[in-house]
Amino acid sequence: MKPAPFAYAKARTLKDAVALLRKSKDARLLAGGQSLIATLNMRLSSPSLLIDINGIKGLDRIVKKGAEVEIGALVRHAQALQSDVIAKHAPLIARAIPHIGHPAIRNRGTIGGSIAFADPAAELPACLVALDGEVVIEGPRGERTVKAANFFKGLFETALGANDVLKTIRIPAAARDDRFGFAELARRHGDYALVGLAAAARAKGDTLSDVRLAYFGVGETPVRARKAEAAIARGAVDEAVTALAGDLDPPDDIQESGKVKLHLAGVLLRRVAQQLAEKPA
Ligand code: FAD
Repeated sequence: MKPAPFAYAKARTLKDAVALLRKSKDARLLAGGQSLIATLNMRLSSPSLLIDINGIKGLDRIVKKGAEVEIGALVRHAQALQSDVIAKHAPLIARAIPHIGHPAIRNRGTIGGSIAFADPAAELPACLVALDGEVVIEGPRGERTVKAANFFKGLFETALGANDVLKTIRIPAAARDDRFGFAELARRHGDYALVGLAAAARAKGDTLSDVRLAYFGVGETPVRARKAEAAIARGAVDEAVTALAGDLDPPDDIQESGKVKLHLAGVLLRRVAQQLAEKPA
């Protein structure tokens, strides 16, 4: 199918993009186009205006600023994978990105697009929650910052308003005692996950604290498994797996039943618990 007709505008600055959004009732921002163009072609969405943000300077930077890593909205998945800053200071993101689609998608798709699109089965929203990161947004009233825990509101719904542009994401730079874990199950590598788990924790000797388990593919947004987190911090992996029944209530979807997804969440938790327990080389 072909998309419905639309007008096209190229934004040169963030303010330009916000102004263009304000002028039109149903404009959409175009980043990598890997999700948007498919929805246009299937006529699931028919905006009258596409605002291309690819020409906005400075949104494609990855920088470590003090104890944080800032990743610009236009950083492509492939670019992040090649970044030394990501490899050294954001190892959870480095582990997650190879699971996103295929090389062609990772070459064009952007970090900002993945976070803004907020697919419930996507890897990066869960990583952002596991890392307790935040999202920097440019809107009609200037810049604001929203914690990941408050950003993902519902199915494909975020704290972004109709006239907002996601500018950057910020995550804490990995410290020496930080541990990370990532695992997902998909029917084929590159497909959206049936169930996935992004995790972070702090090691103190043989024990873990600040355990954060963020599941994806099990609800409308990334879901923290708080009872299981407490059990993992006690080193009680079996207990953590049992606790998942109280933390998660995955609905049936076209990929799998909720019951099977809950079982798979336990399988992933055992793998990730092992990763969290391992001292990095
Ligand atoms: P676009 O498609 O350009 O935009 C997506 C949405 O986000 C649009 O509504 C757009 O207006 C909005 N948007 C984009 N940038 C901004 C911004 N800066 N501020 C505000 N709103 C913005 N993703 C995964 O996570 N995991 C997968 O396994 C996966 N598999 C895929 C398989 C296939 C076959 C395809 C086609 C895509 C897959 N994707 C997957 C999606 C891919 O990661 C996309 O790159 C991502 O979802 C959107 O990024 P984009 O830059 O292409 O955004």
